[in-house]
Amino acid sequence: LYHEKNECYSTWQKIQNMRVVIIGNGVAGISAAIEIRKQSDLEITIISDETEYFFSRTALMYVFMGHLKFEHTQPYPNTFWADNRIKLIKTTVTKIKSAENKIELQDGTALSYHYLVLAMGSKPNFLNWPGQNLDGVTGLYHKKDLEYLIQKTHSIENAVVIGGGLIGIEMAEMLRSKGKQVTFLVREASFWNAVLSENESKIIENHIRAHGVDLQLNTELSHIIGAEKVKAIITNQQKKITCQLVGLAVGVSPNIGLLKDTEIKYKRGILVNDFLQTNIENVFAIGDCAELTTPQPGRRPIEAVWYTAKMMGQTVAKTICSQPEVYKPGIWFNSAKFFDIEYQTYGNVPAVLEPSQTEFLWQKKQQSIRLVYNRHSGVFQGVNALGIRIKQDFFEKAIKEKQTITQILTHIETANFDPEFFKNRLREVKNSYPL
Ligand SMILES: Cc1cc2nc3c(=O)[nH]c(=O)nc-3n(C[C@H](O)[C@H](O)[C@H](O)COP(=O)(O)OP(=O)(O)OC[C@H]3O[C@@H](n4cnc5c(N)ncnc54)[C@H](O)[C@@H]3O)c2cc1C
Repeated sequence: LYHEKNECYSTWQKIQNMRVVIIGNGVAGISAAIEIRKQSDLEITIISDETEYFFSRTALMYVFMGHLKFEHTQPYPNTFWADNRIKLIKTTVTKIKSAENKIELQDGTALSYHYLVLAMGSKPNFLNWPGQNLDGVTGLYHKKDLEYLIQKTHSIENAVVIGGGLIGIEMAEMLRSKGKQVTFLVREASFWNAVLSENESKIIENHIRAHGVDLQLNTELSHIIGAEKVKAIITNQQKKITCQLVGLAVGVSPNIGLLKDTEIKYKRGILVNDFLQTNIENVFAIGDCAELTTPQPGRRPIEAVWYTAKMMGQTVAKTICSQPEVYKPGIWFNSAKFFDIEYQTYGNVPAVLEPSQTEFLWQKKQQSIRLVYNRHSGVFQGVNALGIRIKQDFFEKAIKEKQTITQILTHIETANFDPEFFKNRLREVKNSYPL
């Protein structure tokens, strides 16, 4: 009966010629569109002001460093969109009129919708520093930031990067790859210490310095000086650092400016329920701009990462195509690369352990594995790996099956991702644990 009802519903949608409008052609918006097309004949329009075609934001640094051409960041041929009857419009959406089921575009034209999906991503934080609008100051988020960095880097010698997170270290690596002198200011006492433990931060700090970056911990930007162009920055310790480029990488915020004067509710991000639906029934929000009102246990309301944006897109498509699906991101994972050191995390691995947690740590030079488990039951809760590539399936299964630390360590060597190419360090990890 449910199946029949769905079939009737999708026929009805077709007859009605229902239109889904998606604002944003990042991974969230594109994943939603592709999944909607797989499931239905709904009319799909995607509007974005950044680029005509979808590209992988995470690969921007590799374009800068010359490992890829920009075209290589586009996973679909340009014909894909027309072939799949997905209409692309490159412009800015300037207004949402949810009471009329309409949006307004930059040139004043209105576009009506039956379903609206907000997938507007993030924007880099500029924290009102004096001098932040000088020529030579940039964030790294959009394609235009990449173009700006490429164009500027030719004529500079010294750069200062502000902000000890993933984008900050990417910028430092990018600029070092072009032989620039880079000073890297990190406010915290150790690198990325909201996520990494002290010993993990230390490994990365040593690695950053080994790549010729002048890493300055416990140091903040006070202001930027120059006349039109950047000449130097002043730190909170009143130290002057001469530079011609300042990279600002102090985090991102949901891009929700468009929601002002609408009835759609937001806090830091656009508030959505488990179905990624806003307070307006036919308006949904996904990806970096969405804030879950009731995130699943162990998950945060806003998670600005690639795979969650993709999952949200695929999930919301099901709901729009009349197979309502709750967004279930599962076990937290993330990965990154700090110059040459790969980082992976699965499960609940806080920088500072919770009272009920304890850990087993293995470390050798630039490689480390930190296994966190419950100190009473021994049940494994998560892993951080630096410099050793591990298999996601192994650790996901261990967490789902509530395996103990002892169970895991008896066969941890099978979690090595590249047994043929790399020495299996996990065997050493196992041997160092007193089983
Ligand atoms: C340099 C960099 C490296 C990263 N590396 C990683 C990584 O290694 N791993 C990881 O998990 N995550 C990484 N991230 C984060 C990841 O890229 C984001 O979480 C993801 O791209 C978010 O996708 P999204 O679809 O929500 O938004 P976005 O990709 O931001 O797409 C939103 C689009 O909507 C457009 N838009 C917004 N408002 C309007 C409007 N009013 N009208 C028209 N268009 C509009 C924007 O211009 C943008 O093109 C990285 C991010 C950056 C910037």
